[in-house]
Amino acid sequence: MDGGCFCGKIRFSTTIDPKWVVNCHCDNCKRSVGAPFVTWAVFEKDSFTFNIIPPTHTAPNRAVRTFCDTCGTAIAYWHPNQKSVIDITVGCLDEPEKCPPERNIWTKKRLSWIEELGDIPDHSIYP
Ligand SMILES: [Zn+2]
Ligand SMILES: [Zn+2]
Repeated sequence: MDGGCFCGKIRFSTTIDPKWVVNCHCDNCKRSVGAPFVTWAVFEKDSFTFNIIPPTHTAPNRAVRTFCDTCGTAIAYWHPNQKSVIDITVGCLDEPEKCPPERNIWTKKRLSWIEELGDIPDHSIYP
């Protein structure tokens, strides 16, 4: 499974499928990605390679997030307490259809209007 950032500077590749896929509704994910929640595909870190070492930001809780310093895409997350896995934003995968989320986490922080998204009008392209 391959993927990369919006501008293509950072690319990554893994030989295996994710261990699991989750929607994270925590405040740190919202803020760092700029989205109402983030869908993460969680991979074994050993299976994972980047074409270049991406820039990182380490939060006070020691969580490390990587991003592209050219286009700003949020790419990955890991934490020293969970050394063996790396979380990848599903939106960065070349084939995100293959990674539907299996569960929601941090739902105590979930925005109330997320549950109503199915009730608002759809437009198949920008209207
Ligand atoms: Zn980029
Ligand atoms: Zn989160």
